[in-house]
Amino acid sequence: MKTLTVSVVTPDGPVLENAYEMVSAKAENGELGILPGHIPLVAPLTISAVRLKGEGNTDHIAVSGGFLEVRPDKVTILAQSAEMPDEIDVERARKAKERAERRLQSQKDDVDFKRAESALRRAINRINVAGANK
Ligand code: ATP
Repeated sequence: MKTLTVSVVTPDGPVLENAYEMVSAKAENGELGILPGHIPLVAPLTISAVRLKGEGNTDHIAVSGGFLEVRPDKVTILAQSAEMPDEIDVERARKAKERAERRLQSQKDDVDFKRAESALRRAINRINVAGANK
């Protein structure tokens, strides 16, 4: 099976570079399934899990938005943040989720709902990805 090189980069530095057979990601306008030889494209990513299918193993990465750049032999993911399951602090994500839920339920005028909603989505995504291989 042919492979493509997948590189995941965040403002904190590189997270991963490996060969995979297929990349599945959620772009803002829908799901993408990328195999070697795919036509070049750039797509904005949602807060979601990226699935990287290798030879006999599948890796999951929690990404908090960013961009996916596809070339026939390479996929580059530039994300605001990206974590592999074993890097995720589930307790921290649970606390972030509770904080965001409290803000969204609050009646106060100074709550930035969009920000709280994004924080909630990031936290839920991390909790899901941390459990993805269990
Ligand atoms: P928190 O409120 O817990 O900081 P957040 O969603 O606001 O969560 P981000 O701004 O998305 O955090 O990320 C800041 C940095 O912290 C990034 O490097 C990200 O990878 C890391 N990070 C955030 N939450 C977690 C977590 N639960 N486990 C591991 N790393 C995390």
